[in-house]
Amino acid sequence: MHIGIVGGGQLGRMLAQAGAPLDMRFTFLDPSTQACAASQGVHLCADWDDEEAHQALIEASDVITFEFENVSTMALTQLAEQRPAFPPAKALETARDRGAEKSLFQSLDIAIAPIALIESQDDLDRAVAEIGLPAVLKTRTLGYDGKGQKVLRSADDMPGSVAELGDVPLILEGFIDFDHEVSAIAVRGRDGEVRVWPLSRNEHRQGILHRAEPQPDHPLYARAADYATRVLDALGYVGVMAFEFFVTRDGELLANEIAPRVHNSGHWSIEGATTSQFENHLRAVAGLPLGDTTRLVPCAMLNIIGAFPDRDAVLSVAGARLHDYDKAPRPGRKIGHVTVLAPDEATLAERVAAVEALLVNDLG
Ligand code: AMP
Repeated sequence: MHIGIVGGGQLGRMLAQAGAPLDMRFTFLDPSTQACAASQGVHLCADWDDEEAHQALIEASDVITFEFENVSTMALTQLAEQRPAFPPAKALETARDRGAEKSLFQSLDIAIAPIALIESQDDLDRAVAEIGLPAVLKTRTLGYDGKGQKVLRSADDMPGSVAELGDVPLILEGFIDFDHEVSAIAVRGRDGEVRVWPLSRNEHRQGILHRAEPQPDHPLYARAADYATRVLDALGYVGVMAFEFFVTRDGELLANEIAPRVHNSGHWSIEGATTSQFENHLRAVAGLPLGDTTRLVPCAMLNIIGAFPDRDAVLSVAGARLHDYDKAPRPGRKIGHVTVLAPDEATLAERVAAVEALLVNDLG
């Protein structure tokens, strides 16, 4: 089967690596000449909205999917009219607007932080009077890895902050003094079957994911899986979707955001689960039966950001599996990851500490 992927970054690369045993072939659309998925298939190097490239992608593909969500509605419509394309356009459009995302959560009775939509400094003043400080002001679109947001700690932080974020539509969220963050990676098949991997406990540094560790016994799994299923069903979704949550100090689960694609916090599933998020995404969009999402052994994933550690040293740590995305190092850029596997939790902690000591990450 031929799969067309809009986006040719590391997610596309890992999708193709997962599809190879199923004899899937890949074509990527990505404007970057350095797209790191290019080595795994055919690379159409053209703008996201390039109609000729869309036509070439359509002709090369039995089914089209996305690893990049900020594709124009025009492009989505054009692709979906001519080939089965998953996830659906509505899901991509919802996920790229924090306002639409939060109102979807509210309509499905999914708990979230207090929010207000902001268009001006006056709106902000009114919203802060209601929500209080501290609060987090975020751009509604195009934010990632903590970019496009500002924490307002006191009234002194407020003047000029709407302009500082670019005078674009914003959302103000109450600051959640969370105990920890988790994500649920879920997949929905063409027939509506949903499977959810164990929750991943995630640690961020400077807004960028540092470490993700699946927790098969997390007490909020059933709640998170229920929330995920509500969203997937409401959107008629097909493929993998990631859900990021805060776990409050009272043990409450608050939804933060969704990503309509495979997700960094699910990379552990390549070696750590019976079926990885990448393989199940491909199975879903191709209309194949979904695979088991059980965690196989204790494991954790550590991101490689901005600078590569000594490869030989990483590879010498028992249970460490290195993924090099073939991307030029740049501060703050995700260029690889290591999944550490172990027979038990105590050994995992030792091995993770050994790999962490080798990382030379440059967060920028
Ligand atoms: P986001 O881009 O929404 O995923 O935010 C990036 C990171 O900023 C999150 O993973 C949290 O660590 C932190 N963050 C975002 N929103 C909030 C919030 N409302 N309260 C506290 N921390 C937040």
